[in-house]
Amino acid sequence: MAKCSICGAEAIAYVPYQKRYYCSRHYAEFVEEKVARTIEKYKLIRRGDRVVAAVSGGKDSATLLSTLAVLRDRVGFELVAFHINLEIGDYSQASQRAVEELASRLGVDLIVFDISRELGFTIPEASRRLRRPACSICGAVKRYLYNAVGVELGAKVATGHNADDIIGFALKDFAMGDYEGLSKLTPMVEGVDGLAAPRIRPLYNVYEKESFLYVLSKGLPYIHRDCPFARLTSLEVQFKEFFNRLEESRPSIKLGFLHHLAREKPWRLGEKSYTACPECGLLSSGGTCTFCKLTRRLTGEARGRRVRVRIKELAGERGSMGLG
Ligand code: SF4
Ligand code: ZN
Ligand code: ZN
Repeated sequence: MAKCSICGAEAIAYVPYQKRYYCSRHYAEFVEEKVARTIEKYKLIRRGDRVVAAVSGGKDSATLLSTLAVLRDRVGFELVAFHINLEIGDYSQASQRAVEELASRLGVDLIVFDISRELGFTIPEASRRLRRPACSICGAVKRYLYNAVGVELGAKVATGHNADDIIGFALKDFAMGDYEGLSKLTPMVEGVDGLAAPRIRPLYNVYEKESFLYVLSKGLPYIHRDCPFARLTSLEVQFKEFFNRLEESRPSIKLGFLHHLAREKPWRLGEKSYTACPECGLLSSGGTCTFCKLTRRLTGEARGRRVRVRIKELAGERGSMGLG
């Protein structure tokens, strides 16, 4: 039986590009160090920053919140978790339970935004009524809420996209000729004062398999099933599989790809013209933002402004980040 290359205990994993075996304790430390190095190298978080971690309940968000909780004291930043209950049946209830257990175990404040209670519709209903794919509505709602919570709390928004996700998105953007999308796939996207919060991706160099083993090695709670709307045959999923096959014969090819993609400078939203939505005051690519248009069609009222106030109230109820 293979032994941990550090302490000689029974190994649970082998990392081919390091040619090292790890026991569960040292495997967890290996992933935490990987995240720490990414944060340092790309200057994602500085001492005194506020960070909101977007947590869905899946394994990657568990890895994100746990590694950030470990690094919080070392780097010296404030951390709060933000979960959106999308009201997709049992899946959403189980996701919220996993997130609540995770946040309480890690000692991190949690803000939950329930879209049915706060906005008056669920993702499946909105999809039926607007005759649009659930994922396109869900994506627009999540993007808006993550940005709104970042702006309201004066925080950076950390998402749990792992290395395989980024590679899948990058190859899809390249294949579809979406070079703007491609250039935004850096470890950090800078914010614009008052309009858009900075977004950071601390798991940029953490492989999907590493995230999964990390969660297992720490025994963290997470939701084991996929959202019923997830498409397992999408282009980005096929690109991920292709790169995983390449990695088997060329260990670390994924890290090399990401190193080039990361570039020297983060993407700046200011490189492109942007405006404030006249309804809610947050970033828009022109005129009323997607979220305000969408909520107006579904509820008769553009809800952006009200959502911003509500997020501040929810944070205040939790006493998060000095609010309340
Ligand atoms: Fe939302 Fe689609 Fe992801 Fe489900 S699979 S959480 S509907 S974006
Ligand atoms: Zn060990
Ligand atoms: Zn708006």
